[in-house]
Amino acid sequence: MLLDVQDLHVDFRTRDGVVNAVNGAGFSVDEGETLAVLGESGSGKSVTAQAVMGILDTPPGRITHGRVLFRGRDLLTLGREERRRIRGERMAMIFQDALSSLNPVLSVGYQLGEMFRVHRDASRKEAKARAVELMDRVRIPAARERVNDYPHQFSGGMRQRIMIAMALALEPELVIADEPTTALDVTVQAQVMDLLAELQREYRMGLILITHDLGVVADVADKIAVMYAGRIVEHAPVHDVYKRPAHPYTKGLLESIPRLDHKGGELLAIKGLPPNLLHIPAGCPFHPRCPQVREVCRHDPRPPLYEVGEGRSSACHFWKETIGE
Ligand code: ADP
Ligand code: MG
Repeated sequence: MLLDVQDLHVDFRTRDGVVNAVNGAGFSVDEGETLAVLGESGSGKSVTAQAVMGILDTPPGRITHGRVLFRGRDLLTLGREERRRIRGERMAMIFQDALSSLNPVLSVGYQLGEMFRVHRDASRKEAKARAVELMDRVRIPAARERVNDYPHQFSGGMRQRIMIAMALALEPELVIADEPTTALDVTVQAQVMDLLAELQREYRMGLILITHDLGVVADVADKIAVMYAGRIVEHAPVHDVYKRPAHPYTKGLLESIPRLDHKGGELLAIKGLPPNLLHIPAGCPFHPRCPQVREVCRHDPRPPLYEVGEGRSSACHFWKETIGE
C-alpha cells in the first residue's frame, strides 16, 4: 500500500470553540491508483489533504489522533527535516488556484527549473532545458518561447498545467490534487482533467483527487471516498458506487449530478445543510438530512464503517437497504 490513512482526527481551536474538522477519516491509495475524495464544501477534504501532506496550519490546526502510513512509515512520527524531504521529493500537491501558488515575480521556467536545481543539482542550463521539456509534457504551446514568461501571462488553464508540471517534475509517488479544475471554465476543466489522468497513468503515481464534481470521477477514479462532517461515510471501488451506493449521502450526491440527457430536469440536491462542526449531531451526523432516517440513527454511538463487500465500507446502519440487498 502506498498510502494508508487511519483514524485521522484534526481540530481547530477557534474563538467559538473546538472545530472537529476531521473526525476519524480513513482511506488508502495503492501505487498507480486514483482515489477520488468527494463531499460538499466544508466536509474536511482540504484539511485532510493538508494533514497528509504535512502542511496543516498549526496552530490553529492540530492533528489529535491517527496515522498516515506512507509505504508503511507513519509520517506523523517523522521529524520536520525528514518530512520536508518526503514532501519535496516523493509527494506533491496541486492546488485549486495556480495564481496564488506560483510566484508572480519569477518566470515559470525559473520556477520549474528550480525543482531540478534544488533537488537534482542541475545547472542553470540543464534546469531550463528540463523546464521546457516539462512544459511540452503538459502541452503548453510554444514552450521554448514561453519559458521566460511570468504566471500572469498565461491563461487560467495554462497556469494549471504549469502547476501540474511543477507537481510532476520530480516524479513523485503520490500526488494530491485539491479541486484542481474548480476555478476554470467548464471546457478547460475537462482538458486539464484529461491531462492529469493521462499523466497519472503514464507516471503510475498514486493520485488523490479531491473534487465535488461527481461527473468527472467515473472517468478517472478507481476508488471513491465520500466525506461527510469530517468522516469517510463510504469507501468503495468506483463502479460499485455508481451502480449501487451503500450510503444515503452518496446516493444523494449521485442524484444531484446534472443530467444533460434529462432536458430541463430538476437537480435532485440533498436537502438541508451539512452540520456545524462545532456541534456535530449525535448518532449519524447525516441523520437530520437523511431520507431513510430511523430512530436508532438519532442516537449515539455513531454508525461504524461497516464492511459491506470486497474493499467496500459504509457508515450507514441500514446499508443493506440502501444498496438494495
Ligand atoms: P472542504 O475542503 O471539504 O471544503 P475544509 O477541509 O477546507 O473543507 O474545511 C473543513 C472545516 O474545517 C471547515 O468547515 C472549517 O470549519 C474548518 N477549518 C478549516 N480551516 C480552518 C482554520 N484555519 N481555522 C478554523 N477552522 C478551519
Ligand atoms: Mg477544500
